[in-house]
Amino acid sequence: MSGLDTIKDQPAVRRLESLLREGVLPHALLFTGMEGTGKFSAARMLAMALNCRRYDSEPNHDRARPCGACSACRKIRAGIHPDVLQIQPTRSFIRIDQIRDLIHAVSLKPYEARCRVAIVSEAHRMNPEAGNAMLKILEEPPEQTLIVLNAPQTSDLLPTIVSRCQHIRFHPIARERLAEILVEKHGVAPERAQVLSAAAEGSLSRALAMRDAHFEQRRNALIDIFDDLTQGPVARRLAFAEILAADKEMLEKSLEILKLYMRDLVVSRFQPQLIVNRDLAARIEQDSRRHRLENTMRMIEAVERAQKRIRANANSRLALEAMTLEMIDA
Ligand SMILES: [Zn+2]
Repeated sequence: MSGLDTIKDQPAVRRLESLLREGVLPHALLFTGMEGTGKFSAARMLAMALNCRRYDSEPNHDRARPCGACSACRKIRAGIHPDVLQIQPTRSFIRIDQIRDLIHAVSLKPYEARCRVAIVSEAHRMNPEAGNAMLKILEEPPEQTLIVLNAPQTSDLLPTIVSRCQHIRFHPIARERLAEILVEKHGVAPERAQVLSAAAEGSLSRALAMRDAHFEQRRNALIDIFDDLTQGPVARRLAFAEILAADKEMLEKSLEILKLYMRDLVVSRFQPQLIVNRDLAARIEQDSRRHRLENTMRMIEAVERAQKRIRANANSRLALEAMTLEMIDA
């Protein structure tokens, strides 16, 4: 068990497995993709595969299938292997001291590993000094060491860093697969898993965060307000814009929730089995008859316009007011 079974259908994982089997791993890898798509798990799997003790007694054992049970595998999984170094931002940045410590560590022989692995999470948060120091490591790769940098996208990093790493892209996890993972590995009830996976847009960590944050309660509250809104006076709609704008952290998620619900109102008319908010199937079926189709379509467009403006750093309050003013179902 490599711990990678959950994301085994990622093309990135298959590529890593073939690099392991062929024994052609480079000195440095760059994993890109949004959070929750398995970048860290994959880096840890590499560390296990490179150091699994099982290969000592069974040299022909599949190089991409670490045992998960030997002392090396267990230490790596528990995050306590002395030669698997994990670097992540402290407060907002990865600072030069952290990379200096890394430079020192990789100048020594590994304690017990065949191949030391340094995993740099959120590498795009290296400040300029740290980035330049990292570049030095990449220019003169240390012996018996694999460096894995994780970041959302290549454009977030210095081009000189990107060019010295083999780049492997992690895709969002497919909706159905994500639902399966939630059920099988995290004990989420199947119906709830469908809802969370649809709203999490391919990120396991996002789905788990929503599970813990009582996502459904928030969603239901938003839908209640929305339903009330479309028939109500303008003042109420502007107040809704204000409520949404006030919670900056949740804003994007709230708009996504509204959009998914409206999408369900449309889908429910044609293929009710394809709605995302399956736990609300009865309500959505009723609501979809109450809202006019063309109005719902128009409101979805209004939400998308607001999302675009907010992402382009427009004044979010104004963008939301424009959106809620279009939310009329008359
Ligand atoms: Zn092992």
